[in-house]
Amino acid sequence: MPATSLDQVVSLCKRRGFVFPGSEIYGGLANTWDYGPLGVELKNKVKQEWWNHFIRSRADMVGQDAAILMNPRVWEASGHVSSFSDPLVDCKKCKARFRGDKLIEEKLGAAGAGVLKIDQVQPMLAAKKIPCPNCGSCDWSPAKHFNLMFKTQQGVVEGEGADIYMRPETAQGIFVNFKNVLNTMRPRLPFGIGQIGKAFRNEITPGNFTFRTREFEQMEIEYFVEPKGKNAIFNEWKESVWDWYRSLGIADTRLRIREHEKDELSHYSSRTIDIEYEFPWGWGELFGLADRGDYDLSQHQKFSGEDLSYTDPDDATRKFLPHVIEPSFGCDRTVLTFLIEAYTEEELPNGDVRTVMKFDRRLAPVDVAILPLSKKEPLLQKAEEIRKSLVDQTNLSVDFDVTGSIGKRYRRQDEIGTPLCITVDFGTVGEDDAQGAKDTVTIRDRDTLKQERVAIGKLREAIASTWK
Ligand code: ATP
Repeated sequence: MPATSLDQVVSLCKRRGFVFPGSEIYGGLANTWDYGPLGVELKNKVKQEWWNHFIRSRADMVGQDAAILMNPRVWEASGHVSSFSDPLVDCKKCKARFRGDKLIEEKLGAAGAGVLKIDQVQPMLAAKKIPCPNCGSCDWSPAKHFNLMFKTQQGVVEGEGADIYMRPETAQGIFVNFKNVLNTMRPRLPFGIGQIGKAFRNEITPGNFTFRTREFEQMEIEYFVEPKGKNAIFNEWKESVWDWYRSLGIADTRLRIREHEKDELSHYSSRTIDIEYEFPWGWGELFGLADRGDYDLSQHQKFSGEDLSYTDPDDATRKFLPHVIEPSFGCDRTVLTFLIEAYTEEELPNGDVRTVMKFDRRLAPVDVAILPLSKKEPLLQKAEEIRKSLVDQTNLSVDFDVTGSIGKRYRRQDEIGTPLCITVDFGTVGEDDAQGAKDTVTIRDRDTLKQERVAIGKLREAIASTWK
């Protein structure tokens, strides 16, 4: 069973060093979060799995890493300056501000809110008597467009710099490099370019922990295709992303696909689906897949004056703008989903209840913990030898913990999701046969709690054999 409330996860994240409130010693900064020592390991592993699966292991994919700050014309061409906005409504009574469509969505479901025009938002809030979440009154201002891009200034002389934007998505960094990738890598259609990086949106109502923040990370792919046959490719992406989430441990009973209604689609998209996860507060978007046609390349071609067409390598007379299928993952939402899904409270045979993070082995922040049974010297030295040999000879992340009773240390490793604990005891150092033979250690499995005695010389093999 996953977490049933977000509080369970937020509190474990704070207690165990996954995620801390941002700028905490200064009283925080609304809805900013910092990944702590274990959180950054988890997040890096998610990114690494994604990169290996969707980029490195595929012959049709390449990666890149574009700058966050881009020429402001990019955002005119992409349509973000004119239309990257959400409907903002003010509560006339308490002056709190909200996203009108989200208030309606919470009441009527996603499809109902997405199709509304800006001047229909306030009448709908009134008709459905949707109250202000802050003060409970129902007295809303008409909705107005609120552009979500963060604007800043580039240049050293105050007031004389050019206005530039913090990118609200990584996608445009890929489109503007399309020609560079074509010229340097000579790919054939269909092919894709992927990127992981930060994006910034001045969200009206951030919240639900790291689900909606103003600074977040995306893992995006722009997959360039011939217009003919693109529906089949769209479906392949839908399935491959669904399978990726499942293969890393998300139960498909808590995943669903939501196809966007025709009048809910962005102006550039002819088809969009979301993969949603059932978060403790309800269904929410985890991933989006959009058919963007040739909108982006044609806009950038128009605004930049550069020829962005692709020439068929088998027929040089065929020059055209490829269409784009865009699989777009929220990295932080994906990490949050793995945290929620892994969270388990279960009763042990002795009646104790333990909290255990049942991360897929590939995502666990710590792979193996070495736990000397006592702080006595021969044990510490042996344990340190084992730690060092694992670190030197494998890619495993290895924790070393000598503090507290062995039971408490197991509980701690369960709470951070460490799949294997290796206990070094007096048997290991040849001082107590009853604990085990000399030069053997105990391996404890996080999920089955099974303990096995293994020769130190066979430790690497034994660890490897527990991987799927
Ligand atoms: P939403 O409807 O939740 O605002 P969106 O449809 O605007 O999301 P996209 O523009 O499709 O989101 O962005 C792609 C992905 O980036 C989303 O599926 C989501 O996982 C992630 N994402 C978008 N906005 C945020 C945010 N403010 N905080 C964290 N992740 C985000």
